[in-house]
Amino acid sequence: MAFHPAALVKLLPLAVMIPGAYFGRGQISLLDDDLRIILDSLPYLLCLGVMLMSLQFQRGRLLLAAISVAVFYWVVQSYLQTSLNRNTDALRAYLALSFALPVMALYLLLLPERGIWNLQGLIAALGFILLGLACIELGPWILGINDAAISYTPNSNDVYMLSKSASILAGLTALVGVVLLCIRNEEIEAALLGAILPIYIALAFLHVEYISVSMCIAASLSLVWGLLRSSYSMAYRDELTGLPGRRALNERLKMLGKSYSIAMIDVDRFKRFNDTYGHEVGDEVLKLVASRVRSIKGGGTAYRYGGEEFCVVFPRKTVEATLEPIEKIRDGIASYNMSIRNRSKRPARMKEGSRLRGATRLGSDQVSITISAGVAARSPEHPDPDSVLSEADKMLYKAKRRGRNRVAYAS
Ligand code: GH3
Ligand code: MG
Ligand code: MG
Repeated sequence: MAFHPAALVKLLPLAVMIPGAYFGRGQISLLDDDLRIILDSLPYLLCLGVMLMSLQFQRGRLLLAAISVAVFYWVVQSYLQTSLNRNTDALRAYLALSFALPVMALYLLLLPERGIWNLQGLIAALGFILLGLACIELGPWILGINDAAISYTPNSNDVYMLSKSASILAGLTALVGVVLLCIRNEEIEAALLGAILPIYIALAFLHVEYISVSMCIAASLSLVWGLLRSSYSMAYRDELTGLPGRRALNERLKMLGKSYSIAMIDVDRFKRFNDTYGHEVGDEVLKLVASRVRSIKGGGTAYRYGGEEFCVVFPRKTVEATLEPIEKIRDGIASYNMSIRNRSKRPARMKEGSRLRGATRLGSDQVSITISAGVAARSPEHPDPDSVLSEADKMLYKAKRRGRNRVAYAS
């Protein structure tokens, strides 16, 4: 199981949105009445937008999250604009929310995405609704018991209102969200966390003026952002390797300036590798090669060109300047021994594995592969990205002809 701490970067918009919403709410009182009415309904409008887009893009978890934010906002506006000490119904609603939110958030975070209009999606949605109803019934009871029965009455003078047990539950949920984000490395996890955190803040600091409207706007904006980012990813990222794909490369090529180099990289003898070890092991190898190529130095950006081919774009670099970083990647891949976990896909005969060049069997559990690369730069003979790319491709085949596991370049 891979762990991607870099996925935490996806939470950066939150670092802007939450303080922005917190401090921006001070401006709400300066608005005139008409604008304030519009602002009050903004969380509903944004949630409605997310719901419609989620239906369109088959994002079941975001749909449920948007419905939850809208319901949360509605409960706060309808039942919690009062002193919790004097109103038992309001206190029950508060306790129910502070229990239901983390539990439902945990459910959404752990749920795999199954779309909406299919049996699994509908069962997941039904489970979510039932869980919500159960939490609303049980929440006040559980939190009431844990916090010395209903004697737990948040003091309206307290700035922080969440009970200790609700806070622990909320903290655990946020932690699970962060770990899942690092494991799955997906925009949806970041968006869900981006909705959960502002809602907690709204609940914990409920007495702060305009907190619910500002935090619900932040939560729904986070869902909008997540939807846009995940749609972008679908269009521009290659699913297997996580690298930007061909479409992203084409966009990038249009934006290059007057000086750049392009490298084409191809895995050696990969067809044989697949035939010997199976497609699944082949896919694992492609992921590994992609992760190595992604980390290329020298200012290069890696793309999956297609199949077992990768393309690296080096803006403002001569061919000479790219050779060291490419050699480093080639050498790193060639000297890396990969473990094969899929026993059934191992070659039946030792000979079959060891005759491969480019995909070499090293022992009972390990193989190594090699890559070849071709590099070309923009020049008077190759004045546009397409011709530089095809020159790099020619160089790649030169590297193949010369015996593979090497880099060839147009001099
Ligand atoms: P060469 O050294 O000349 O590049 O030989 P090669 O076998 O790598 O070249 P060829 O183009 O004949 O074969 C490429 C193979 O890559 C064909 C296909 O089996 C494999 N391949 C392409 N895309 C994928 C993929 O997404 N997953 C897996 N597992 N294999 C792929
Ligand atoms: Mg190829
Ligand atoms: Mg190949």
